Amino acid sequence: MTTDWLLSETLAPQVEGDLLAPLYEAAAHGVLALPFCGECGTPLDLDQQVCDGCGADEIAWRPVEPAGTVHSATRVHRREPGLVVAEEPYPVLDVELSSGHRLIMTTRTAPPGLPRIGDPVAVVFRELGGVSIPAAALTTPSTSEVTP
Ligand SMILES: [Zn+2]
Repeated sequence: MTTDWLLSETLAPQVEGDLLAPLYEAAAHGVLALPFCGECGTPLDLDQQVCDGCGADEIAWRPVEPAGTVHSATRVHRREPGLVVAEEPYPVLDVELSSGHRLIMTTRTAPPGLPRIGDPVAVVFRELGGVSIPAAALTTPSTSEVTP
């Protein structure tokens, strides 16, 4: 089992019975699956139970293209001893996916800088306590700070 760069594995999500179990189960196979309305196909938020578009409460998890752009980027300075293992402030990105979903994630590895709004990202996976969770990999570095 690999060790995550950011979080203690005690923070690994409990997959079984979790609302996001379909996400974790697909991620274990390297697939990004996200929820859509089962009636009209509107992309839903991860925890959304009722469709904004048609009011249906049927959720269909489907694979999506693991690509998007940075909608916003925040550098978090707060340390949580024993939980956050990174030594430096870490990025939290709001990624707008080509599927129409928005997903909050950090990066796959500790980045030397903060991505810029509009930067393209590929959604890959980090492993936390044996659970694969989405993480951003920058696809075209836009700043001199970004890793080669
Ligand atoms: Zn709908």
